[in-house]
Amino acid sequence: MTNNAFTALMAHMHEAVALSQISGLLGWDQETTMARGSANQRAEWQSALQATIHAKRTDPKVGDWLAAIDPAELDPIEAANIRVISREYERQSRVPTDLAREIARVTSAAQGEWAEARAAGDFAAFQGTLAKVVDLRRQEAAALANGGDLYDALLGEYEPGMQAVELDRLFAGLRRGLVDLREGIGQSSVEIPDIEGRFSQDQQMLIARELADVFGYDWNRGRLDLAVHPFSSGSGDDVRITTRVAEQDPFNCFYSTIHEVGHAVYEQNIDPRHGLTVLGTGASMGVHESQSRIFENQLGRSRAFTGFLFQRMQAVFGDFGIPDAETFYHVVNKLRRGYIRTDADEVQYNLHVLLRYDLERKLIAGTLDVADLQDAWNQRFEQDFGYAVDSVQNGVLQDVHWPVGLIGYFPTYTLGNIYAGELYASLQDDLPTLDSDLAKGDTKEALVWLKEKIHRHGGTYEPRDLIERAVGHAPSEAPLLDYITRKFGDIYQL
Ligand code: ZN
Repeated sequence: MTNNAFTALMAHMHEAVALSQISGLLGWDQETTMARGSANQRAEWQSALQATIHAKRTDPKVGDWLAAIDPAELDPIEAANIRVISREYERQSRVPTDLAREIARVTSAAQGEWAEARAAGDFAAFQGTLAKVVDLRRQEAAALANGGDLYDALLGEYEPGMQAVELDRLFAGLRRGLVDLREGIGQSSVEIPDIEGRFSQDQQMLIARELADVFGYDWNRGRLDLAVHPFSSGSGDDVRITTRVAEQDPFNCFYSTIHEVGHAVYEQNIDPRHGLTVLGTGASMGVHESQSRIFENQLGRSRAFTGFLFQRMQAVFGDFGIPDAETFYHVVNKLRRGYIRTDADEVQYNLHVLLRYDLERKLIAGTLDVADLQDAWNQRFEQDFGYAVDSVQNGVLQDVHWPVGLIGYFPTYTLGNIYAGELYASLQDDLPTLDSDLAKGDTKEALVWLKEKIHRHGGTYEPRDLIERAVGHAPSEAPLLDYITRKFGDIYQL
């Protein structure tokens, strides 16, 4: 019985996964090449496709097959497939259809309202809608939690197996350490110049493509295009990335590209046996972000690798005003006063995320009202960053996550950095030639290590177990904080 049920279930999920990938491709097309006038028709396509995918994933036959399967008869990979399918099936069947539909309707309209309120700099205009979104997500959390913690129920969608109590433990020490470090850097007398001049799009894209090569992107199963917001999409044999170009800031293009290549190479390196199964994608949002961040920061912004990038930029742009590789390393890593999470350096980035995490936990717990959210944001920002928010666009209205209902998602960004910190420490131990390789623009051995430890497994393990198997202990924030403190202590001579 198990065999028949398992085979039928896998065939059914194969179709659901294929349809989801098609939906992802339509999304990519919408952000890159679709004509503006096609938007309404595209929304109809997506909504029809999403309804079909949802019906497949919640089909009562899935429940019947799951009930008929005897776990004792499964090999570990089959068991992992069943673990992921049951988790998703259970989540989806707990949420009443009407509630799911209402969430989809409200969050889809909220995105436009948020964009308008942001343009007008008017939080009050959006407050009512945001309160509605928070209320609906709380109802959903209550349905999912089954008496347990509401926030954990939402978090579980993005980081299976993770709980807020554990996040609190990981984040508390990190916040203290980063605030101290930021204050120390504020006192430093080290002056770091800025990059100046104009860098043409063609020349930037030449280097961006080279960086994608260097970090192992497989062009035979992907492509690079321009988009307003860089992203990576797809799985298996079709993983696409986008980047953007600002003529005065080539680092924006280069480091966005390396970041997205980190996501893409993870997907491209998953064992093909998981293709078109629920295991054929990354283990979680946090693990995914660990791969983009270790590529971008620990490897890409290292002294060794920036030495290589400096040479490549000189070869393409000629003298661009930075005298030597050491100055270039400092310029790449320079701390700037700023309000925007996505522009932040390694020291301040996680402070942005922790602020959002603490506020959204209170929103879901019901101890913070949306009416008080802007004040709470501004107060916390000044506390951690040392200066006041200057506009609501640079404050509570800056991210699209809450408007579209993504609550429980933010902490996976910092979790990704914490995992990256753990993996980098382990990689350095296992690969003594890492820096001399990176100085030559050679990431081959590092990629072999990451593929072996993380990439090839796809979704086979829970995120926590995957990291623990890779580094030999439960993940801690200590290696990340240690890495950031040493790196910036050295740059700013603290
Ligand atoms: Zn990312």
